[in-house]
This record gives sequence, C-alpha cells and structure tokens, in this order.
Amino acid sequence: LNGSVRGVQKTLTVATEPTFAPFEFQVAGKLQGFDIELVNAIAAAAGFQVKYQNMPFSGMIPALQAKSIDAAVSAMTITEERSKTVSFSRPYFKSGLGIAVRGSNQDITNFESLKNKKIAVQIGTTGADKAKTVPGAAIRTFDDTPIALQELLNGNVDAVVHDQPGLLYGIKTGNLQGLKIVGQLLTEEYYGIPTPKNSPNLKLINQGLTKVLSNGTYAQIYKKWFNS
Ligand code: GLN
Repeated sequence: LNGSVRGVQKTLTVATEPTFAPFEFQVAGKLQGFDIELVNAIAAAAGFQVKYQNMPFSGMIPALQAKSIDAAVSAMTITEERSKTVSFSRPYFKSGLGIAVRGSNQDITNFESLKNKKIAVQIGTTGADKAKTVPGAAIRTFDDTPIALQELLNGNVDAVVHDQPGLLYGIKTGNLQGLKIVGQLLTEEYYGIPTPKNSPNLKLINQGLTKVLSNGTYAQIYKKWFNS
C-alpha cells in the first residue's frame, strides 16, 4: 500500500533551515532547493505527504528527540554522535568541508594555516566541530551560514569553515562575490535524512529514496542544481 491506508496518505512534518543554497533556501517566501525537491520526490514515490517546518539547524536534533517533527532535511551530515540519538536514512549526497576566505587573502592556503586565525562557523554543524580542532583559533559562532559569510566579507573574521558544495554554489552564482575557496576538502561527509530514533517512518523514507535513486529522478534533480 506504499504508506497509504485505504488511499489516505499520512503527512510527515519535515524540518528544514532554508538558509543554505542550493540545498534549501527561500525565494519570495517559497521553499526550494535540491533537498526540497528530493524529499518531494521521495514522498511522491513512497506515498506520503510533506508538511515543511522552518527551524534553526541546531534545533533539529532536539526536536527529533522530542518527536515534535517526523524528519528533517537540511544537508545534515550523518555522524556517529548524531546517530546515538536519531536514526538516519541511507546517505543521499556526498559532501565535505571547505575553507572560504576573502579573495585578497594570501596567507590562508590550507587547514594548517588557519592556526591562530579568526574563524566563523554555524552553530551545531560539522564545520563548527572541525574549526574547534584548529590550534589557537578564535571561533565565532553564528546562527546560520549567510551571517557567518557576511562576517567574512566584512573583514571581521579570516575564514569560514562549512560544507564546500554550498560555498562553491554561492561563489558560482555571485552571491558570495569576493570570496574564494582554498586548500583541499577537509572531510568526506554524507548527508542523510534524520528521523526520531527507530522511527516507523524510516522504512518508508528509505524505500522512496531508493526508488528515486534508481529511477532517474535523483539524477535529474542533481543535474538541475549541480549542473553535471
Ligand atoms: N552538513 C553540515 C552538518 O551537518 C552543515 C549543514 C547545514 O549547514 N545545513 O553539520
């Protein structure tokens, strides 16, 4: 029956923080992006409805633990730490952390040269965790990535550590004019859709995800947002 009971589909509340193009963002109040189209496709394939709920990224794990949402989609990396308290879908996107600096910066060229620098990060992210391992660095934490990047553009910090696909997209589309990415990817990370621990909906989400991965829908959405 594909998740529907006598033709009535269940509705899952899915949290997102729409400040991270091209994964989830808003234009004129309308939610869009790779993650949003992917979840819409998963829902269509598995036979459930989605109600999106905007929420700060750092609030998602607590909300999942409290079961006040059914799932989240927000370019969230599957980590061991998070997996102690929530259950992730199968991975859906390969990512990694990158370093953004101002175009004029000459002295930060890789992770080692972040030593003793001022680094802006988004609270509760893998980028924040990574930045904390830099010796002598002053870490400044912000609620979302656009604010952290604005601090960098304003010259208040030396670098931002965040998911490279988002940084690249911002630079390519001109939204982050004046910034560049330096060095190698710092990590290899995989995004997943978190649900409450052992959620009964996990199977449904994975079935839908597996379908869209195998029927060409995933490739179509990927091409639209990443053009390759
Ligand atoms: N992938 C990173 C994490 O999971 C950042 C996600 C985001 O900023 N939305 O921590």
